[in-house]
Amino acid sequence: MALLGGLIKNKEERIEKKTEKGKDAIKMKDWNGALKYFNGLIDKGNATPDIYVLRQMVLMAMDYDSPKILNDSIDLFRKNKDLTVEYGAHTVKVSQLLYECELRRDDETLSSKEDSVEVGEAFIRLGQKYMDLEYPNLILNDVFKEEKMSPSMLGNYIQGEGYSTIAESIKYESPKMAAERMISARQFYTECNFEDDVKRCDEFIENASKSGKCWFCNREETGLFMRLWPMPTLLSKENYAKEGERMPDNDSNKNVYACSGCRFVFYNQYQDCLKESKQYTDGKVQDLADWTASRLDNLQSQINALDRRIDSLRR
Ligand SMILES: [Zn+2]
Repeated sequence: MALLGGLIKNKEERIEKKTEKGKDAIKMKDWNGALKYFNGLIDKGNATPDIYVLRQMVLMAMDYDSPKILNDSIDLFRKNKDLTVEYGAHTVKVSQLLYECELRRDDETLSSKEDSVEVGEAFIRLGQKYMDLEYPNLILNDVFKEEKMSPSMLGNYIQGEGYSTIAESIKYESPKMAAERMISARQFYTECNFEDDVKRCDEFIENASKSGKCWFCNREETGLFMRLWPMPTLLSKENYAKEGERMPDNDSNKNVYACSGCRFVFYNQYQDCLKESKQYTDGKVQDLADWTASRLDNLQSQINALDRRIDSLRR
């Protein structure tokens, strides 16, 4: 019995030693080393649930942007959400880590979709979920990116994205309503100090208020790049100022402006021209290819004739 007891004690010590070595490797950021110890324990059936969690966190550290690793992590953390693990200098509650991973996956899913009002509203709801987190720094950023980012900072930014997405989705129909949404986006971006986005909002809001008359049909429109489009011309400003007020205010470019309806007519014309010229150039390319092929055939038969003459001279 004493011998058996000693063997068990030895085995326990070995497991504990490997676990410690794996944790030390994490502290040193030696990801491959950590995987070696943790995989060894898992392969021999000696791993406790926290080893699985730590191993998954190491995989996240090695390839943070991998969607597959993120999905696998969510599955594994769900099964172990009552645990708390020591990862490097961090004490991590798996339930909180899991929740942030789920929010991050939602963010990535929304970001991959085309802009629409629905996507914008979903971004706003997601941003509010970040605002509801009651701890000072996001775990994912702290642990895997070694940066401090507060949940409210990211929450504000994502809500800004939400309102901006809605504005972009409705700007062709209603520049005025789009500008109102962009004013909300601007407030959120200001909260989190994203200055480039604040500037983008300002530009959008300014453009949305610009009015002018369509050069072609004289329709009054508001919303530059929304319902009123600049088109380059060789005319000078003085020339068309004489024709009446047909430009948005304070514009010194050599442009005339088209309403969306007129612009669409030009766009269709342009598409037709493009199709025709493509047919023409495709035909020319084919002619050139045929000509080159026939020249090559011709040259080859000349080479063959020369070969035969050289052969006959050698004999
Ligand atoms: Zn027009």
